[in-house]
Amino acid sequence: MSEYDVVIIGGGPAGLTAGLYAARARSRCVLIERGAFGGQMINARVVENYPGFPNGIPGIELGSLMQEQASKHGLQTVFAEVSRLTPGSKHSIVTTEGTFQTRAIVLAAGSQYRQLNVPGEKQFTGRGVSYCAACDGFFFRDRDVAVVGGGDTAVSDALELSHYAKRVYLIHRRDQLRAAQALVQRASGESRIEFIWNSVVEEIAGDQMMNALKLRNIRTDSVFTLKVAGVFVAVGVVPNSQPFADVLETDDSGAIIVEQDLATSLPGVYAAGDIRKNSPRQIASAVGDGVAAALSALRYLQTQA
Ligand code: NAP
Repeated sequence: MSEYDVVIIGGGPAGLTAGLYAARARSRCVLIERGAFGGQMINARVVENYPGFPNGIPGIELGSLMQEQASKHGLQTVFAEVSRLTPGSKHSIVTTEGTFQTRAIVLAAGSQYRQLNVPGEKQFTGRGVSYCAACDGFFFRDRDVAVVGGGDTAVSDALELSHYAKRVYLIHRRDQLRAAQALVQRASGESRIEFIWNSVVEEIAGDQMMNALKLRNIRTDSVFTLKVAGVFVAVGVVPNSQPFADVLETDDSGAIIVEQDLATSLPGVYAAGDIRKNSPRQIASAVGDGVAAALSALRYLQTQA
């Protein structure tokens, strides 16, 4: 069993930044990541709103630079999947690579795309069904596509896709978007975007690739088919808090509830980035969270010394 001062779970911007700070403070720390470093940003073709890069930077490159910087300062990393957190005077973290004991934890495991859970969604994922317009929009040049959702992501995706696609249908289950007014105005003025209101996807159909959506208007109950080459699902995210949800306070969506210093309901455990409640879901804010959570964890260790 390995023993640490701080264990960081998640290798996105929040986790890598927390790792940088914990390593520079010379604490015994390790970062556990289950996939690739960088988190969701690795899907962004260009990140334009992270300060310091006036010409933008590919998400994958930014993630790799963050990892390189943290490891230069001594951050140890382990590739493993976390399955359970057992609280104690030293907390235990059970992973596929063994159990880690630690006095403080920074949870920075991020979130994942919410699914529609309709027939055809799983079958056609990667074959017309996508959750990332910035990653896959390019493949739909001059084709008709749909976006599902009414939040900032859905409207931003529709605008992004209107640069490539012939027509973009924005399908929303109500008759009002919850996205920011500036985005709504831009989308309303874009001739390639067509709104389909009060409608839900009931099925995604196709052959080798998806080619149609079965939609239902929830006001009239009428069912109709929309022929599209692709659908971008943008109906929000689910925090990756499942391994911790039985021992920590979360809200109904699974987001971890935190105090101002990012302390969770468990002593010595802090949450940073998209996994926490009210996250702005930006790379820059995740980085800020990583700093705040690491400093809180280091302060906690001093009070326990
Ligand atoms: P969101 O704000 O939670 O919006 C999700 C949308 O999907 C809502 O319109 C919701 O409908 C709809 N929806 C949820 N479940 C559905 C289902 N099963 N079937 C059909 N529709 C469904 O999620 P988001 O757009 O990903 O944004 C999340 C956060 O990130 C927000 O705080 C947002 O401001 C932020 N964000 C910011 C930017 C930016 O550029 N600043 C970009 C992206 C995201 P209802 O409206 O009916 O609930």
